Amino acid sequence: MRTFEYRTPETIDEAISLLKEAGGSARPLAGGTDLVVQMKERATRFPYPETIVSLDRVAELRTIDFSDSDGLRIGSGATMSDVATHPAIQERYTALAEGAGVVGSLQTMNMATIGGNVCNAAPSADSAPPLLVYEAEAVIAGPNGRRSLPIAELFRGPGETALESGELLAELRLPVPPAGTGAVYERNTPRKQMDIAVVGVGVSLTLSGDTIGRARVALGAVAPTPRRAQAAEAALEGQPANDETFAKAAEAAATDDCSPITDIRASAEYRRHLVKVMTARLLAQAANRAKGTS
Ligand SMILES: Cc1cc2nc3c(=O)[nH]c(=O)nc-3n(C[C@H](O)[C@H](O)[C@H](O)COP(=O)(O)OP(=O)(O)OC[C@H]3O[C@@H](n4cnc5c(N)ncnc54)[C@H](O)[C@@H]3O)c2cc1C
Repeated sequence: MRTFEYRTPETIDEAISLLKEAGGSARPLAGGTDLVVQMKERATRFPYPETIVSLDRVAELRTIDFSDSDGLRIGSGATMSDVATHPAIQERYTALAEGAGVVGSLQTMNMATIGGNVCNAAPSADSAPPLLVYEAEAVIAGPNGRRSLPIAELFRGPGETALESGELLAELRLPVPPAGTGAVYERNTPRKQMDIAVVGVGVSLTLSGDTIGRARVALGAVAPTPRRAQAAEAALEGQPANDETFAKAAEAAATDDCSPITDIRASAEYRRHLVKVMTARLLAQAANRAKGTS
């Protein structure tokens, strides 16, 4: 590893000033489970940082709040363990608790933050499909104040986000899921732990009786960014919540909503097959959750 300046601000404003002062060669550091590994391997997608701005002492980035009126606010510095074990997230944002709960090992989850997972922008990031199905908003803090962006617009490509130099992801805001909603996240990995998703699927269904009122489907590791599966969603909304509908939506997800690649971990063909099988199964599971039967 090459030498670098290490700064330890205690507030978001201070962190932003330090990033601005250091210019384009500065990089925020959260848990370091991506950044430190990339720096050691000289594998950063951006110029090697000359200044590291640690977010570790910025307490305001760590809070998680839920209220029935405002929904969920998760500070970008909340760890995967914080997210996976938070009672309101387990109860109301099940798919997110499931996504956070599979990141690496317990040791990884205790260091890895949700903000780092999002800002590292890996197509396989396990928090991304759940954040997409819950329609999270990213609140970004920078030298010109705050702005907010739908999470789908934050992801720009592998390792690329819409964050400008000097900006920080401050928090994620998730609206309250409508009554009658069931959601689930699952990924396929060759190993149970310490592996990254070959395919990740998040789904959320809101039922009105036996009819699907609202459907959100999101896929990980099958496109340059985590993405919503809009053809699948269109095949679900207004339709009866049954296996036939789920099979049609799963086919649409595998055919129209992904562009997987072949790499060392799986072929494109196998990834499409997984998208189809997993989407159909998870839709049935989400419907059962929506009905309160699972
Ligand atoms: C052993 C191991 C297992 C892993 N398993 C998984 C897994 O199963 N699933 C998975 O999705 N990932 C996995 N990862 C990857 C990693 O743990 C996650 O992506 C993690 O959430 C990154 O968070 P972090 O806090 O460590 O980020 P860091 O490494 O600190 O930062 C990651 C990137 O985000 C930027 N950044 C961080 N916080 C902010 C912010 N608030 N604003 C702007 N930019 C920011 C940093 O500059 C850096 O570019 C694994 C990593 C390891 C080492």
